[in-house]
Amino acid sequence: MSSTLDFDIRPNPRPTPAAERERILENPGWGQHFTDHMVTIRYSADKGWHDARLEPYGPLALDPASQVLHYSQELFEGLKAYRQADGSVVTFRPFSNAARMNRSARRMAMPDIPEELFVRALEVLVSTDRDWVPDQPGHSLYLRPFMFATTRALGVNQPAQEYLFVVIASPSGNYYARGIRPVTVWLSQTYTRAAPGGTGEAKTGGNYAASFAGQAEAVAHGCDQVVWLDAVEHRWVEEVGSMNLMFVLGSGSGARLLTPALTGTLLPGITRDSMLKLAPDLGIPVEEGKINIDEWQAGCESGEITEVFGCGTAAIISPVGAVRGADREWTIGNGEPGELSMRLREELLGIQSGTRPDPYGWIHRII
Ligand SMILES: *Cc1c(COP(=O)(O)O)cnc(C)c1O
Repeated sequence: MSSTLDFDIRPNPRPTPAAERERILENPGWGQHFTDHMVTIRYSADKGWHDARLEPYGPLALDPASQVLHYSQELFEGLKAYRQADGSVVTFRPFSNAARMNRSARRMAMPDIPEELFVRALEVLVSTDRDWVPDQPGHSLYLRPFMFATTRALGVNQPAQEYLFVVIASPSGNYYARGIRPVTVWLSQTYTRAAPGGTGEAKTGGNYAASFAGQAEAVAHGCDQVVWLDAVEHRWVEEVGSMNLMFVLGSGSGARLLTPALTGTLLPGITRDSMLKLAPDLGIPVEEGKINIDEWQAGCESGEITEVFGCGTAAIISPVGAVRGADREWTIGNGEPGELSMRLREELLGIQSGTRPDPYGWIHRII
């Protein structure tokens, strides 16, 4: 099977007028506006990946018996394209997203997509819709590759034979348009996100569907996001919302980072992985370990834990200011964004926006 499929280019005959696009880019918000095109690539068990297209963004025609609509055989990725000062456009670690999509695919009994084809699809879309890549600082073009089962069959005993891979793109504004505000998080002991042997480490929509009730519970308790605890003891900290969690122990030159190890129930974030590589180069030791809610509370009360933040592509880092549970409540540090959290954010943002060197080879130039 060739990873250098030719794309059939079908330009949008009615692209968004430039003035309208400019108006959208002034204040794009998050995930509400989409560019003029999308990429679609089909898979069938007999032909492999075929029929790669760039086509006008628009509704997909699906048979009502498509397997995804019944059994949720779906997965997705998320990454951003950033405008550099010289006008060029880059993405951040796209091959890591491709590799993760293929790990998710194996768990969901879906086909692998060649990494080069995955990245080529991003390049075709971003270079066609280059005028949609924002140039305001902190803004970016969010890319959403996803794949789902299109086989028309209600039989439940086997994975589908046909799939559609799609990439869409959405201009996104500064996550912190109103300044960085630490979140208050809720320790859910009612709901779990993932169980051992389940799909927690796959980036699949079903994990999100299952998390909305927990998120609603957090909001009902006046919190912004839910902290996911392990499914067995409901004590070990795994993730926050749809981000990985990092704990700063100590401060100043003695500071170090602790993050829950990837046990199979956590999503292996690329931002998490980047922090684990970046921090030691800044003189901050990192450790992948375990932390439970009692240790978290005691660590904050003794002053050993100085900062806590969530990390993921959308926000890079999101400081946690306070924690609330059914029978407890505490603040982290003085409840304000921590110094080290902000420094790590600046460093990563600097690499992505091209204002800092990239010794890691994370930046992938598209145009
Ligand atoms: C996508 C995701 C993350 C963050 O991954 P990044 O690659 O850093 O964006 C963390 N947790 C969950 C549940 C996710 O879906």
